Amino acid sequence: MQVPKVRAVRNSSSDPAILRLPIFAVGGHDSFDNRYELAENGARGFFPDPIQLPELVERIEKLSADQARGTRGRVILVEDDPDLAEHYRLVLHLAGIDVRIVNDPTRLLSDMAAFRPDLVLMDVQLDGYSGVHLARMIRFDAQWLSLPIIYLSSEDDPDIQLDALSKGADDFLMKPVSDDYLVRSVQIRCLRARLLSDLMNQDSLTGLLKHSLIKQTLEQEVARCRRDGRTSAVVMLDLDHFKTVNDTWGHVVGDTVIKSLANLLRNRLRETDLIGRYGGEEFLVVMPGCDLDDAERVMQDIAASFSALAFTAGQDRFHVTLSAGIAAIHALSTADESLNAADAALYRRKYNGRNGVTVFRSGPQNAPQEAH
Ligand code: GH3
Ligand code: MG
Ligand code: MG
Repeated sequence: MQVPKVRAVRNSSSDPAILRLPIFAVGGHDSFDNRYELAENGARGFFPDPIQLPELVERIEKLSADQARGTRGRVILVEDDPDLAEHYRLVLHLAGIDVRIVNDPTRLLSDMAAFRPDLVLMDVQLDGYSGVHLARMIRFDAQWLSLPIIYLSSEDDPDIQLDALSKGADDFLMKPVSDDYLVRSVQIRCLRARLLSDLMNQDSLTGLLKHSLIKQTLEQEVARCRRDGRTSAVVMLDLDHFKTVNDTWGHVVGDTVIKSLANLLRNRLRETDLIGRYGGEEFLVVMPGCDLDDAERVMQDIAASFSALAFTAGQDRFHVTLSAGIAAIHALSTADESLNAADAALYRRKYNGRNGVTVFRSGPQNAPQEAH
């Protein structure tokens, strides 16, 4: 859609399904006036000339991933009136929001750990407990410091409200609250909480999990393998001779290569696989429920596809390859041991010519074997 005709952006369809479709404006001149007019006309994104295709693809993928997530939020509702709690749950459920009711405050922290809410709705006057103190207790735990907590209260004295807010919550909803107001307040806050948590947890260049989070994921997988006896694999990937890519074509082109590998991994791996950017041009993949042979096959396939991708820089066309080391998580007892094993296999791959996959198999010789 060309920017000079910005008015055409307005979605004037009479079909409600089409009306809800987000609009991205593509092409045209980048200026404040154009951006403002597009925003005024309801556009959700703007990709001016010269169009950065990887960025556009990434935005579209992010949008469809958000929609595929299905639920529009997860809410813990602390409310001791069972009828009211069930009413709120139903109203929010109809708007696509998952609700877990906590009517026994002593179970609050364990329910939060299991349910991982985007938001807490807290009744202030509970039988035998104060919602204000419970909100403060939630904040003891660093992982919940940025979690929105909203009080449900019939208290309309602004001084008392402000005093309560200073003790840990973010906002008040006055009881009785209308169904529509409840849904809209919760939706907006869930959306914002998710954007914030994505920003905190995702690497900005690739949208993959950041170093600390992917390591945490690996630790959880080690524990799960031990507990449930399941088979899982961890992969360490590194781009080959990447310094030369930067030195020859510049960092911006280098960044495009990194993003392309991130997109390829996202597209080829399973929904349940977890992908992180471990360092500059290093990636870590955790593959739950995947044995070494399957992991090896998948990674060989990805390495082959990646080496076939043609990148362009000015008049030049070039290819980049990757090396990967794979280890079995269940065969080793700690996250560090799995990482070291995958890293040893990767190192071996680099030493033996790069562009491919090496599997660490613990055997009598405890030596990595070549995959190709
Ligand atoms: P090898 O095949 O042995 O891995 O060689 P290499 O050149 O890939 O490895 P080396 O560790 O020497 O260089 C990695 C380079 O990756 C150096 C660094 O500048 C670059 N790099 C790290 N992070 C980024 C990034 O975010 N963007 C770009 N463009 N380059 C990055
Ligand atoms: Mg490298
Ligand atoms: Mg490296």
